[in-house]
Amino acid sequence: MSDQTKIQFASSISTTEQNKKRIAIFGSTGSIGVQALNVIAGNLDKFSVEILTAHSNDELLIQQGLHLCPNIVVIADESKYLKVKEALATTDTKVFAGEKALEEVAAMDCYDLMLAAIVGYAGLKPTLKAISNGKTIALANKETLVVAGDIVMRNALEKRVPVIPVDTEHSAIFQCLVGEARNRIEKIILTASGGPFLGRKTNYLVNVKREHALQHPNWTMGAKITIDSATLMNKGLEMIEAKWLFNLSPQQIQVVIHPQSIIHSMVQFEDGSIKAQMGLPDMKLPIQYALAFPKRIKNDFPRYDFKKVNTLNFEEPDMKTFRNLVLAIESLNKGGNLPCIMNAANEIAVYAFLRNRIGFLEMTDVIEKTMQKVTFITKPTLDEYFESDGEARTYAADMIRL
Ligand code: NDP
Repeated sequence: MSDQTKIQFASSISTTEQNKKRIAIFGSTGSIGVQALNVIAGNLDKFSVEILTAHSNDELLIQQGLHLCPNIVVIADESKYLKVKEALATTDTKVFAGEKALEEVAAMDCYDLMLAAIVGYAGLKPTLKAISNGKTIALANKETLVVAGDIVMRNALEKRVPVIPVDTEHSAIFQCLVGEARNRIEKIILTASGGPFLGRKTNYLVNVKREHALQHPNWTMGAKITIDSATLMNKGLEMIEAKWLFNLSPQQIQVVIHPQSIIHSMVQFEDGSIKAQMGLPDMKLPIQYALAFPKRIKNDFPRYDFKKVNTLNFEEPDMKTFRNLVLAIESLNKGGNLPCIMNAANEIAVYAFLRNRIGFLEMTDVIEKTMQKVTFITKPTLDEYFESDGEARTYAADMIRL
């Protein structure tokens, strides 16, 4: 077990034995943020909401602010500042605006745990700030680890900050590792639903439109991760996320398609024994687990019923059709700034696809060409990650003429 995993298990115990845990939700207006607020609403004796942030959804942020009276709200889009400020004028909530404010607020001391639920690269800087401020991280924002996992986890280790995964698969692995501090992991098995286009081939995918790709069979999520799930890029991002969270080599990470999403992921130990974590697909469970860790909280979420079991299926991912997974594995193996470049190109490609500017399969071309073009750096500094991200975005956007 890695040093970071030991910190995850050790440090959180002291936090939960105090009174209410003070929560900062970065990305409170998103799919994860809203579900986290539902979890907190059912456990107001255990949690208080201190900070809420949004990008531009002022209406929902105001609603959340009026309802929960947090200490602070941040709206990243500065043009919305006055509207939010006026709407919350009758409350004690402090209102800030702008990208820099996200970092400044992350550096404050008024909270115990940051739920990092901003989507994409935008989540990296506030999360780094929270880590340097010694705050526990419940990590949904996988792109943070894809872009700069080495630096993020090194900083967390130095500050003895637990990084508790929220992503279902990583939460499953984390849960399987409880009590296994002295045991070596042979490999982990990340399960993937396969998304809405499981079994489809390129002649079908070439005509796929955004509305179709946004229909995930098992999960309701934000638009970007839903498209990533349809292209299998999400599973690639998760492989890289797992490498950093659990200190694994690429060879220790396997992906298996499991369309029912009941087994959330598995750990195989060196004696061949496999532990799995199971349940119905419901993000509230890993969110609640990360917020409350190391305790489990009673809830009334729907339960999986073995008496109504349908078959659980497993198959190999179709890497010939879903080439984003191949690109992600390439960047996982090569390391350096390649995952950062891939992530930036993918964010641009998904953005363009969601606006009907490019087709489903063209997303892969944009990512592949950007990965070939942007300068490879074996051991980037944080500034070099920022520069690689910018360079990759510019190259990918120019290609699409965004
Ligand atoms: P959403 O798109 O639903 O929400 C994203 C949140 O981030 C919103 O609050 C949004 O604000 C905010 N945001 C977006 N861009 C910026 C920006 N540039 N600066 C500041 N804030 C910004 O995403 P999800 O909730 O689906 O996903 C969040 C993260 O969690 C992603 O990294 C995703 O991969 C991960 N995740 C999500 C799962 C899910 O079930 N949804 C499952 C596992 C992981 P606004 O609303 O104003 O735009």
